Amino acid sequence: MTQSGHITVLGAGITAHAAALLLAEQGFSVSLPAPQAPPHTRDIRAYAINHTSRDTLKACGVWPQDDQAAWLTPMTHMRVFGDASGALQFDAPPQQAQPLAWMVDVPVLEDHLAEAVTRHARVQFDDHASPSAQTPPSALTIICEGKSGIARTALGIDMVSKHYPHRALALRMRAEHSHGGVAHQWFNGTHILALLPMGGADGHDLAVVWSLPDAAHQTWLDMETTAQTAALEDQLTQASQGALGHLSLTSGPVAFPLSVGLTTQWIAQQTALAGDAAHTIHPLAGQGLNLGLADVQTLSDCVAARARGESPGASRVLQRYQRRRRAATEPMQWVTHGLFHLFNNPLGRNPAASWLRNAGMSGFNAMGPLKSWVQRVGMGN
Ligand SMILES: Cc1cc2nc3c(=O)[nH]c(=O)nc-3n(C[C@H](O)[C@H](O)[C@H](O)COP(=O)(O)OP(=O)(O)OC[C@H]3O[C@@H](n4cnc5c(N)ncnc54)[C@H](O)[C@@H]3O)c2cc1C
Repeated sequence: MTQSGHITVLGAGITAHAAALLLAEQGFSVSLPAPQAPPHTRDIRAYAINHTSRDTLKACGVWPQDDQAAWLTPMTHMRVFGDASGALQFDAPPQQAQPLAWMVDVPVLEDHLAEAVTRHARVQFDDHASPSAQTPPSALTIICEGKSGIARTALGIDMVSKHYPHRALALRMRAEHSHGGVAHQWFNGTHILALLPMGGADGHDLAVVWSLPDAAHQTWLDMETTAQTAALEDQLTQASQGALGHLSLTSGPVAFPLSVGLTTQWIAQQTALAGDAAHTIHPLAGQGLNLGLADVQTLSDCVAARARGESPGASRVLQRYQRRRRAATEPMQWVTHGLFHLFNNPLGRNPAASWLRNAGMSGFNAMGPLKSWVQRVGMGN
């Protein structure tokens, strides 16, 4: 069905393309910025995609119906370790035969989405800086330009954000032993290390995210010799307590600055913000893009549920979107921020504090209902 009203989406990332596809599927004509040539070096990262995001990507037509593809690795278990004896584990519910999440190569997902928007009959590409005479006025503009986009600033909307004194180094490694679909994470007091399973359920490939203090990360970016690479491999093999045997570097590292931030308002006149344009979060819980995809799914749902004859950019529609997404995003940011500071806090280095947080971690692991609830939220259910 064709819907009246034109929608403009600003941005060229995963959130922007998902927004364009969801609204085009509802029957709206949608315009996106003219595509740029792909960057010479592709994103080295892999994302953990939860169940809600999987459903959104299915609705966009870019996810296999049976959840099987060479570019998806099911994550069936997660083991988290504190800086002493604390440990926590999450396991996929066996009765549901579903993993906790799927690890996805970022460039593959980006390419599938870019191809889908190019193929879609109701998506057109425009140079928004100098729109053509044929571009109809927009009933709704969705800003998905990421955290540094200019459209949010041009509207005078602030992002209240705080930089972490850390950078994330993203790398790809190969492990001596198969990961078996298990994600591992260590909170060691000054850094956070995640080994995420790639290359299929029994693969040896890993996407690694290593969050470490600003002052420490540069050493690893300036690596020029084989000895320096060997030192990095030894450091990460030790930091992962040999859980997967020796780790060998296959690509990277690439550094990413880290922040937690939230826009002061999610909406303006006939305009909505989504994805990193609206919020940022530390990647330790792998939730940033999942929040962004939930934004565009919620916005699409609010538009679909509007009253007959109501514009997709009507204030009532956008207010509902803002209420729902603010309520879902803030708690996830608090939990992630709290976890970061629980382990990266100079006051917490004394033995009593360390005992308390590790005992708390193991105690939480034993709390059936609370742990199940956290697991369900992480899975996007
Ligand atoms: C190390 C690391 C690991 C992460 N792991 C995970 C994970 O496992 N799971 C997860 O859910 N999230 C993860 N995240 C978070 C995730 O990277 C972000 O939340 C996600 O990329 C946000 O997507 P976005 O489309 O909103 O913004 P972006 O990815 O920033 O995309 C916006 C794009 O739009 C382009 N753009 C901006 N303005 C314009 C314009 N006017 N015209 C055209 N193009 C424009 C920008 O250049 C950019 O390419 C991780 C983050 C980091 C740093």
